[in-house]
Amino acid sequence: MLEQLNTTETKSENDSKKTSIYSLQLQQLKDWLSENGEKPFRAEQIYDWLYKKRISTFEEMSNLSKSLRDKLSNHFELTTLKTVIKQTSSDGTIKFLFELFDGYSIETVLMRHDYGNSVCVTTQVGCRIGCTFCASTLGGLKRHLEAGEIVAQVVTVQQALDETDERVSSVVIMGIGEPFDNYDNMLSFLKIINYDTGLNIGARHITVSTSGIVPKIYQFADENMQINFAISLHAPNTELRSRLMPINKAYKLDDLMKAVRYYIDKTGRRISFEYGLFGGVNDSVEHAEELAVLLKGLKCHVNLIPVNYVPERDYVRTPKDKIFAFEKALKKHGINVTIRREHGHDIDAACGQLRAKERKEETR
Ligand code: SF4
Repeated sequence: MLEQLNTTETKSENDSKKTSIYSLQLQQLKDWLSENGEKPFRAEQIYDWLYKKRISTFEEMSNLSKSLRDKLSNHFELTTLKTVIKQTSSDGTIKFLFELFDGYSIETVLMRHDYGNSVCVTTQVGCRIGCTFCASTLGGLKRHLEAGEIVAQVVTVQQALDETDERVSSVVIMGIGEPFDNYDNMLSFLKIINYDTGLNIGARHITVSTSGIVPKIYQFADENMQINFAISLHAPNTELRSRLMPINKAYKLDDLMKAVRYYIDKTGRRISFEYGLFGGVNDSVEHAEELAVLLKGLKCHVNLIPVNYVPERDYVRTPKDKIFAFEKALKKHGINVTIRREHGHDIDAACGQLRAKERKEETR
């Protein structure tokens, strides 16, 4: 099902705007209230309206005075995302294309699992990492998303689920963009969705994934959050990784693995490695054996991802028998491994595909 609501994706002339209220951590909101002559406890009430009742106008915050509601609407933006496309797959996956205040567009995906509903959020408009298999990086990085623009993705999906009395139970930061390239906003986002007065998404139900910005991995380890952490690895050796992911030229595989060990030692948590299987490139049993040696002794888990064919790129899917052979080779060495189930196969579900398609149609 495709709901085409609007097709504009040009940068608007007027790109000045107020701060999104969803960008404010609870303490920041309390500070703002104090600075503006209001009682700090109002912050909890405002959070309740934003994240529990999920209202769409400041006017609806009926237990606040008219003057506070006016102050809020003069200083902050409440609606920052406009739904342009909402595509629903036969398996229940829903893909949203949102337009931002400045005309750029981003994607967010709702996935249905046995264990609940998961939202995959975007952290940047485009991406500058340049992974050779990724449609999202084709136009480069346009800008970072503010924390509130990331939070609003989860809130908007939750509002859609409210219609059927369902709840977002987990969040993965694996959409468009490199989260560690927008570190401070990503961290704010994590805190805001985690508050029990906010959306109350438990830390263990949040996963952040990086392509391997090594200094940020150390920084993130030192935050010591109980969040699930994943590395997009995709290759068992540095030569092949550099071919697939140019970031490996800046931060070599050896240095990445040192940072991974630091993270595991510091947090005591298991790490996940995302390994996309690209037909004839990194998917042989020999590659699996090499990967097993690389990960030997690490507290980790490997997610094998059969990669969709990306029209702009030359990669093809790995046949099923080879996927199972790869999995078996890892298991033989005692590595925890699963094959990721595909979501939204009948819609443009791979990262950046919907946005890339929109951009292409626009330039015709
Ligand atoms: S896979 Fe992720 S990090 Fe790599 S280019 Fe795409 S969006 Fe950026």
